[in-house]
Order: sequence, then structure tokens, then C-alpha cells
Amino acid sequence: MSNVSVTKDAAPTAENLVVLDNVNKHFGALHVLQDIDLTIARGEVVVVIGPSGSGKSTLCRTINRLETIDSGTILIDGKPLPAEGRELARLRADVGMVFQSFNLFAHKTVLENVMLGQLKVRRAEKKAAEEKARSLLDRVGVANQADKYPAQLSGGQQQRVAIARALAMDPKVMLFDEPTSALDPEMINEVLEVMQQLAQGGMTMIVVTHEMGFARSAANRVVFMADGRIVEEATPDQFFSNPRSDRAKDFLSKIL
Ligand code: ADP
Ligand code: MG
Repeated sequence: MSNVSVTKDAAPTAENLVVLDNVNKHFGALHVLQDIDLTIARGEVVVVIGPSGSGKSTLCRTINRLETIDSGTILIDGKPLPAEGRELARLRADVGMVFQSFNLFAHKTVLENVMLGQLKVRRAEKKAAEEKARSLLDRVGVANQADKYPAQLSGGQQQRVAIARALAMDPKVMLFDEPTSALDPEMINEVLEVMQQLAQGGMTMIVVTHEMGFARSAANRVVFMADGRIVEEATPDQFFSNPRSDRAKDFLSKIL
């Protein structure tokens, strides 16, 4: 017993997979991220919500260094993001990202899309990469689309391929930036179901979404952003039944 607590005390951040400490970012005169402190534990699912323009996408993009920051620290699994080069590519692969627009390579087949990063970044053998790609495509329910090109798939199928492609890199954390916002309504659930399964399987996830049903059922924590700040953090139950800030109350009254 005492050993366990000693170990825990000795490495208090070991379970913190993503740590943002006092992160600031400007776009010219716009202070888009203001003093952001955010810690995501291993296995935690955090849903980020907030009005359009509040900085949610920028927050996601800084976490895998698609955007630089002006001050503060970002640690992924205890390590700062390197500035460039192969090391950055590897670390980026630790942070799987799924965007609103599916961002698949249009001139590669579905199978090739899911193999490419494994070959280039993870230096996997072709046979192993293909096996893994097929198994992931099966897991997200599009195994029979492997030889098609992205444009031949529905939006929901493309987004599930994008999830498989990110998972192929064995990411430590998955970021989803409004993954269902561009989808026709009947395709939203098939993508949310895959995300729900991932969450249940213990994946650490940061999800920007307006799908409040998903937030209620899958999130451990809701982070509410407005004007570049984290205004409120709470469990989904607390947040939806009893939002504390006027900004959150106002936002919820508009979307619920
Ligand atoms: P959200 O995802 O919450 O809608 P964003 O992070 O996309 O918010 O944007 C936050 C603010 O930063 C917005 O005002 C947006 O116009 C601005 N912004 C985003 N990206 C850029 C950029 N590359 N250059 C200048 N301004 C930007
Ligand atoms: Mg956005």
C-alpha cells in the first residue's frame, strides 16, 4: 500500500498526458488564447465547447503544433513539442487529429490513406502496415471500402477513414475538431459511435463538438471556452444542469 502512494507522489504528473501551462497566442492584435491552463489525464475524455471564434480550433492546433504559441508550455506525455524535423513528425503522430473537413489524400485509396503515415513516419513494413490498416478499417466499419478513393465514399465513411488513419499511428491522444459538423445529419451517429467506442476503450480524447448527447454520455469533463479563455470546467452533469457563468448559460440557452 505505502509503495503505491510513494510511487504516485514521486511522479505526480505521470498520468497527465497533455499539459498546457499558461499558454498564450495572438493572431496580430487578436489575443486568441489567453492564459490557458489545461491538464488532461491519461484515458480522460474532455469535450471542449464554446461559441464560434472562441479559440477552440486554435487550441487543438497548438496541441500538435500546427500553430506555434507565444508563451507558456505544452507537454505531451511529459515532453515539450519539438520545433521541427522528424522528431516533430513523430510527436505529431502521437497526437492524432481529426478535422471537420475530412482531409484525406484524394489521390490515394482508402487503404493507402491509412497505410501512408505508418510507412513514412513510423517506418513500418508494408505488409504490417496493410494488415493494421485493414484491421482498423474493419474496426470503424468501412473494411469493404478499402480500394476506393475518398470521393467515392459518403462523408460519414470518409470521416471514419480519417479516424482509422489517425489511429494507425498509435496516438497517445486523439483530437477531434468538430468531426461531425460537416456531415449530413444521418451520418453523424455513425461517426459518434466510433468515437464513443474509442472513449470506452480508454483512449485519451479532446473533442470539440456541439453534439451535447456525446458530451453527456462520453465526456469525463466539459471545458467551456469564450473569447480565448477557459471560462468554466465541470463534469457534464454539472455543466448542463447548473452552468455557473453567464457566458455558459447564454451559450446553452442558444443550443439546447
Ligand atoms: P473556434 O474554433 O472556437 O471557432 P478559432 O480557434 O477557429 O475559433 O478562431 C479563434 C479566433 O481566431 C477567430 O476570431 C478567428 O477568426 C481567429 N483566427 C483563427 N485562425 C486564424 C489565423 N490563421 N489568422 C488570423 N486569425 C485567425
Ligand atoms: Mg473551430
